[in-house]
Amino acid sequence: MAELIPVLNEDEIKKLVADVAQNISDDYKDSEIVLIGVLKGAFVFMADLIRKITIPVKIDFVAISSYGSNTVSSGKIKLTRGIEIDLKNKNILIVEDIVDTGLTLKYLIDYIESFEPKSVRICALLDKYERRETKINVDYPCHRIEKGFVVGYGIDYAEDYRNLPAIYHLKQ
Ligand code: 5GP
Repeated sequence: MAELIPVLNEDEIKKLVADVAQNISDDYKDSEIVLIGVLKGAFVFMADLIRKITIPVKIDFVAISSYGSNTVSSGKIKLTRGIEIDLKNKNILIVEDIVDTGLTLKYLIDYIESFEPKSVRICALLDKYERRETKINVDYPCHRIEKGFVVGYGIDYAEDYRNLPAIYHLKQ
């Protein structure tokens, strides 16, 4: 039986999201940003985040497949949904659920830079910084965690658990 061990409760998530939204709104004051959410894991975070940002935002989504139904990264990254709006000369903020090895983001940054944006920064709900394999800097990390596989608040295991309002370690 899988066991769910609490990592962040609803109130803690709410505070982290409000704080990071404030920092983003302050840093981009007087400019516009395009938030690019990474499906599917970041959809809940993205929905909460945009409602706390106080400057003008546009949004789009990309979909990436890397884990499949495993809890270990396959290292193989595939773009399954691309950008649909104009990114040229725009300030881009990539919104990720978790940055782990950083390989997904490295791939994504290269892809987004091909549209010639003005700037590209990264916001991640969870930063597994100890497992980084690339030189990716998360500009707006909400919370740092160590190793372990987490689910809830949009984040899945084999498509389950996305509906949980809090974040848990999944112990199998
Ligand atoms: P990276 O390419 O940085 O190794 O992996 C990033 C992606 O792997 C995240 O967007 C997320 O989809 C997935 N991932 C990394 N750690 C976890 C985890 O603990 N739980 C789940 N469900 N996905 C994870």
